[in-house]
Amino acid sequence: MTQIKRIAIFGSTGSIGTQALEVIAANTDKFSAEILTAQTNDELLVKQAIQFNPNCVVIGDETKYQKVKEALSHTHVKVFAGEQSLIEVAAMDCYDMMLAAIVGYAGLKPTLQAIENNKPIALANKETLVVAGDILMQKALAKRVPIIPVDSEHAAIFQCLVGEGRNKIEKIILTASGGPFFGKKPNFLVNVKKDHALQHPNWSMGAKITIDSATLMNKGLEMIEAKWLFNLQPEQIQVIIHQQSIIHSMVQFEDGSIKAQMGLPDMKLPIQYALAFPQRIPNQFPRYDFKKPNTLTFEEPDIRTFRNLFLATEALKKGGNMPCIMNAANEIAVYAFLRNRIGFLDITEMIEQTMNKISFIEKPSLEEYFESDGEARTFAASLIHLQF
Ligand code: NAD
Ligand code: MG
Repeated sequence: MTQIKRIAIFGSTGSIGTQALEVIAANTDKFSAEILTAQTNDELLVKQAIQFNPNCVVIGDETKYQKVKEALSHTHVKVFAGEQSLIEVAAMDCYDMMLAAIVGYAGLKPTLQAIENNKPIALANKETLVVAGDILMQKALAKRVPIIPVDSEHAAIFQCLVGEGRNKIEKIILTASGGPFFGKKPNFLVNVKKDHALQHPNWSMGAKITIDSATLMNKGLEMIEAKWLFNLQPEQIQVIIHQQSIIHSMVQFEDGSIKAQMGLPDMKLPIQYALAFPQRIPNQFPRYDFKKPNTLTFEEPDIRTFRNLFLATEALKKGGNMPCIMNAANEIAVYAFLRNRIGFLDITEMIEQTMNKISFIEKPSLEEYFESDGEARTFAASLIHLQF
């Protein structure tokens, strides 16, 4: 890699975004940050802009535009604000690859725009594929735009597939840490509060994905993400609890051979891999040591207790707009839980009721996905007022 790869980080102030900037800072001969975006954290965005001197920044919250503009007035950094600016900036020519690291549905439109403009995507934002995976992958295929997964499980599968050409996948095995409530039962979960749910044993991540990990919805979203990334049937996707998070996921081929990708849990690794693909670049991250006493364990997930995983499997099998509906309800429920409006088990209840309520569409257009998302959000939000 002789040329510098110019990266656009959508969601630069988040957990993935800040770790990506650490990777870029450690490899300034290989990468630069050309676009940075944040929703509300203007102070961190300004700090990042001063350090990385990008072409432009976007602050989602328009009330903070003046503040960001003034703080960067002594630089050449262009400042934009608002949701529409994210899409406009995604259409710019000043970058070579988008790191899609916005959380939730909000990441969908800018990512579609980047693909439209022939930009390769390093994809952290799994909700994009859950909402409209068919449309996004078709567009990427038509444009010959690579989608390189950042999510650690999918990055693992992607790495296992390098060099396999057209060899068929028999199944993939997605590993799940089990989250902070592994082994717990509903009588415990009913009293869980947000502070406890936010303590993940192995990974430090943004609030939404941390709750998704505690409810196992994260693994459900990842099953759907895997379906689209690797063109799989639902029966080819297995989830297994592996509490140590050392095996990041596995692929089983038609001859029964299984490949695993392993390492210590550190998101900088899949981020760096996606940014530098197809090269691997050296780093000083801590290494896994087989000499230390360590047991790797594997168990079936308890889908009767963690019903979100069951619901996600149903959505995966049903297809159409069902994953989109499920995702919207989950986003509303998780933010309600984070604001102490509903209990931990109510999250599942809200998702299930929303999935039963919103009209099913087997082959939705992009417009219909947007509508399903809106309808599901409105309905899920109404449940909070009515029942919880
Ligand atoms: P985070 O909450 O830490 O950061 C989210 C980023 O998106 C922030 O920069 C925020 O400003 C921006 N954002 C939030 N809402 C927005 C909106 N409505 N419009 C525009 N921008 C908005 O989240 P994260 O943990 O970094 O996760 C980002 C994505 O990566 C998620 O989809 C998550 O599932 C995925 N992911 C994260 C991890 C991890 O270790 N954190 C691992 C795998 C996948
Ligand atoms: Mg993951």
